[in-house]
Amino acid sequence: MTTVTETRGFETEVKQLLHLMIHSLYSNKEIFLRELISNASDAADKLRFEALNHPEYYEQDSELKIWVEHDEAANTMTIRDNGIGMSFEEVVKNLGTIARSGTKEFLSSLSGDAAKDSNLIGQFGVGFYSSFMVAESVSVRTRKAGLPASEGVLWTSKGEGEYTIEGITHASRGTEIVLHLKEDETEFASGMRLRHIITQYSNHISFPIYMKKEDDSSEEEVVNRAAALWTLPKSDISAEQYQEFYKQLTHDYQDALEWSHNRVEGKLEYISLLYIPARAPFDLWDPNNTRGLKLYVRRVFIMEDADQLLPRYLRFVRGLLDSHDLPLNVSREILQNSRVVDTMRQGLVKRALSMLESMAQDNPEKYTDFWKNFGVVLKEGPAEDIENRERIAKLLRFSSTHAVDQTQSVSLEAYIARMKPEQDKIYYCAADSYIAAKNSPHLEVFNKKGIEVLLMSDKVDEWLLSHLTEFEGKSFQSVARGTFDDSDFTPETDEAFKTVLEKIQTVLSARVKGVRLTKRLTDSPACVVADEQDLSAHMERILRAAGQSLQTKPILELNPEHLLVQALCKESEMGRFEDLSHLLLDQAILAEGGQLEDPAAFVKRVNNRLMEHIV
Ligand code: ADP
Ligand code: MG
Repeated sequence: MTTVTETRGFETEVKQLLHLMIHSLYSNKEIFLRELISNASDAADKLRFEALNHPEYYEQDSELKIWVEHDEAANTMTIRDNGIGMSFEEVVKNLGTIARSGTKEFLSSLSGDAAKDSNLIGQFGVGFYSSFMVAESVSVRTRKAGLPASEGVLWTSKGEGEYTIEGITHASRGTEIVLHLKEDETEFASGMRLRHIITQYSNHISFPIYMKKEDDSSEEEVVNRAAALWTLPKSDISAEQYQEFYKQLTHDYQDALEWSHNRVEGKLEYISLLYIPARAPFDLWDPNNTRGLKLYVRRVFIMEDADQLLPRYLRFVRGLLDSHDLPLNVSREILQNSRVVDTMRQGLVKRALSMLESMAQDNPEKYTDFWKNFGVVLKEGPAEDIENRERIAKLLRFSSTHAVDQTQSVSLEAYIARMKPEQDKIYYCAADSYIAAKNSPHLEVFNKKGIEVLLMSDKVDEWLLSHLTEFEGKSFQSVARGTFDDSDFTPETDEAFKTVLEKIQTVLSARVKGVRLTKRLTDSPACVVADEQDLSAHMERILRAAGQSLQTKPILELNPEHLLVQALCKESEMGRFEDLSHLLLDQAILAEGGQLEDPAAFVKRVNNRLMEHIV
């Protein structure tokens, strides 16, 4: 066979990435081995899956293995697998052309801190290129399962912008990667060092990793644990092993916050191993993020990210499910309409929620940490999962006027326990930021009376409360909406004010729905509130930002005790009366974080009043 060696350039982003690997990353270099072994293990998983329908792909060799070899004299190390292998096109696509979807995010999320950046490598699926951290050149020999020996491929690169590729004859199925190590990376040609790295990072790969014995006997031995960790009894697995497995599974560099490992037997049989990461992943908010659990059927890896197994509001949960009952040829479409999956999903949701419940109960500080990272996601729960609404509601945490700082740490149960004897509602104040909520004039009377108010400033909050309307028989009440039914709060409209209120209403008729007196306020002269059935001003801003055109007029409430309001009542000059009416409304809107439609007019009115005092 005549072979032609072609030289091709890497795709731009791959080049950037390689440049970084070679010149900027100095710490944790040993993770390259974890990445290559994880690829070999993926390749074995893929072959096992493909062979379900094409047993001939095994070519009489169905024991899937990984080998790690080293040659100190030549300063090389080799990793080899008898997995699925790659065709010519696949090599081009996987090892050079395609800017993998994670690459851009990877490059933009680099912190400049080499240690942290090295750790990001695996997370972003740029694993193969990490071999250039330690190698001055890399050659890949591969042959895809099912193709003849003549369809082998040789790929080589020094990582400097170019690679070569040619067709070769390659009898053995799978992939062999040889790293010609850099002069100062000889440690990775040492058997001792490699063994150590393998036990540290790849111990729980479920395929055996073979190395030559150290005694020159040229016999091979398995150097990893090579058992699917989740199939072992809990009592045989140490916390450290759970953490190692977590890191191997997710490529996260930090320990998981919590995990839950369960074997279910009965009508359905399955094992689940769920983890809660310590930090939110970079794509938690990416709408295309289809993170889910890894799905296995009777130990055979079936698919990555089976997002049908958990609802969206639990998308931060990582881990795997190994089902005994699903067919091996299960596809995403089948998963969507499967009763078995529905039942398992319900079981998984219960596991995840009880994991959070125990954490909240036994270790509130850890739970606060969880909440900081994933609380906003869990807040989607009550809307999405009606069946578990009450359970999820108990897990929610909020900022509050009774908490020391803005940390969301107050549970609804704690709020209810602190309610005043005559209080029958859960009061909340929603605004664009914590500061705006905390300083809202609507809170004045509540602060005076010592009534706790939950402070809400996450975008999802009002949406949450439109689905969670009550908790343990107590309904939620916005402090910026409607009147108070507590008779103590409802002021009797003084006859003396009646005509003035009508006059203000006439002046502001284009801007407000009504004008009334309030006892809500102690320090501020005015505030705006929404009518009971109307959207709150905050909700309206959110919807408007989402492109909806809305115009609900608020109700202007005035504090009869305030000097400015009293001055307005006494004002007989019509121009000044109008100015002051508008000013009270303008400042009420501003105080709750709203925007004025005509800011220039506001400024002019303020200046008119200021001038009166100067001139
Ligand atoms: P990822 O593993 O996240 O996809 P990598 O950079 O580690 O990213 O690998 C890129 C791709 O190269 C893999 O998705 C796979 O298709 C291919 N690949 C790498 N190593 C092997 C291997 N040993 N056998 C078969 N394919 C491989
Ligand atoms: Mg990989």
